[in-house]
Amino acid sequence: MKAAIIVGAGFGGLALGIRLQSAGVATTIVEARDKPGGRAYFWEKNGFTFDAGPTVITDPACLKELWALSGRDMADDVTLEPVTPFYRLNWVDGTSFDYTNDDAALKRQIAALDPDDVAGYDRFLAYSAGVYREGYEKLGHVAFLDFASMVKAAPALARYQAWRSVYAMVARFVKNEKLREALSFHTLLVGGNPFTASAIYALIHKLERDGGVWFARGGTNRLVAAMVAQFERLGGTLRLGDPVTRIDTMGDRATGVTCASGWQAEADAVATNADLMHSYRDLLAGSRSAARKASRLEAKRWSPSLFVEHFGIKGRWPGIPHHSILFGPRYKELLADIYDHGVLAEDFSLYLHHPTVTDPAMAPEGHATFYALAPVPHLGKFPVDWDAVGPILEKRILDEVGRRLIPDIHERIVTKFSYAPKDFAHDLNAHLGSAFSLEPILTQSAWFRAHNRDEAIPNLYVVGAGTHPGAGIPGVVGSAKATAALMLEQR
Ligand SMILES: Cc1cc2nc3c(=O)[nH]c(=O)nc-3n(C[C@H](O)[C@H](O)[C@H](O)COP(=O)(O)OP(=O)(O)OC[C@H]3O[C@@H](n4cnc5c(N)ncnc54)[C@H](O)[C@@H]3O)c2cc1C
Repeated sequence: MKAAIIVGAGFGGLALGIRLQSAGVATTIVEARDKPGGRAYFWEKNGFTFDAGPTVITDPACLKELWALSGRDMADDVTLEPVTPFYRLNWVDGTSFDYTNDDAALKRQIAALDPDDVAGYDRFLAYSAGVYREGYEKLGHVAFLDFASMVKAAPALARYQAWRSVYAMVARFVKNEKLREALSFHTLLVGGNPFTASAIYALIHKLERDGGVWFARGGTNRLVAAMVAQFERLGGTLRLGDPVTRIDTMGDRATGVTCASGWQAEADAVATNADLMHSYRDLLAGSRSAARKASRLEAKRWSPSLFVEHFGIKGRWPGIPHHSILFGPRYKELLADIYDHGVLAEDFSLYLHHPTVTDPAMAPEGHATFYALAPVPHLGKFPVDWDAVGPILEKRILDEVGRRLIPDIHERIVTKFSYAPKDFAHDLNAHLGSAFSLEPILTQSAWFRAHNRDEAIPNLYVVGAGTHPGAGIPGVVGSAKATAALMLEQR
């Protein structure tokens, strides 16, 4: 293989581009939007920098590897800073829990919730470490192309009871409900409901304990810019602002891509980082195998969407940590409304992002940048007019942040805007406005997820949240490793 084209410049597309280019494959990444990053897009407004998506950077080692491949150091292009606490969890009764990897501090807080749970937590950590070894270190960056590979993984999946949910597994170790929430909410960061996501996702706890939680100085957009710099330095080409309208095929071969501008290019292989359904239904519209795949995808469970309220306000807020989770009054029932019933409930849980507490330069002097994010049903379950609903939800979210943290929030706002499910659908071609692609349940994981190499078109590849291992930065960067290995085998 001499030349490759990647559709989409999300974390998955960029990581794959760096790997291919590092191996000497001339790679062009074609991105529809004016900036790279995909979910990790960003805006600058009135002197505030707003990252659109990922803010919790875990497993920095998987990113550093993208530089080490060519003997370079990621630190030359971007600075990662540790964030502590990882998250401050806050419940409606005023209880707070600072989630960190400082064992003594963590155990002190667990003991305050229920002294009996300290021993249970240790057992949970041992469980999480086991799944991390099997599910992440061994299998997180290797493609599952045939059922045999799934059979090989079966003993480990059985040993760690992967058919149970994360919440069910956590509940076997600890009794306190708040602690159960604290140890299970992480699946939401990759689109999974803790009550249905496979227990293999409990590995996130160990991943964070060992690798820490990090922030790229200047915002996640700086990490994206660093990846672009590394890709281009290696000789790769990034083409922005030109949506691919067709992945060209001849027989069972992908031959290149055609873009909205009329620009066309040929390649020995094509990889798509764009949304799975968009890729198979729209970009491969002429292919019968792709049409079959698209109709199978239609029947899958897609992860929910998000409503993200961005706001820049007057004042600095040293008492509000970088990452907070403001739990609402309901947990399981709220998640069932979002994932199963398609109900936009009156209550919500929020993730609050406050980057200026780590990097004040992301807002004008004496100001602060925030976003508050609420998981909401995707457009298939809740096909509502978000232009009408959005302003109502926006006010409720700001009121709640005001009630719990910033009393005069409305008077302090300098700039605000929201990002709704329809925006995910419109800007990112995200099927149903899903924020994380296919839901991470066992029957949609590993071999059951879209394969990193297409079965019918052998030089067509998939990279990103829709393929193995799944969403989240470590996930999609791992998918790039799996997909690159397959592509380089093609040579
Ligand atoms: C609000 C939010 C917060 C999150 N927080 C975290 C977090 O804190 N930590 C974490 O690890 N993960 C987080 N995630 C998840 C993580 O951001 C995603 O799983 C990951 O970034 C997805 O990367 P990707 O490469 O799969 O694709 P994407 O980022 O979706 O990129 C796909 C790209 O393909 C492009 N594209 C689509 N169609 C075409 C076309 N026809 N032609 C050309 N280009 C096309 C899109 O424009 C896009 O740039 C978050 C996600 C969201 C939405």
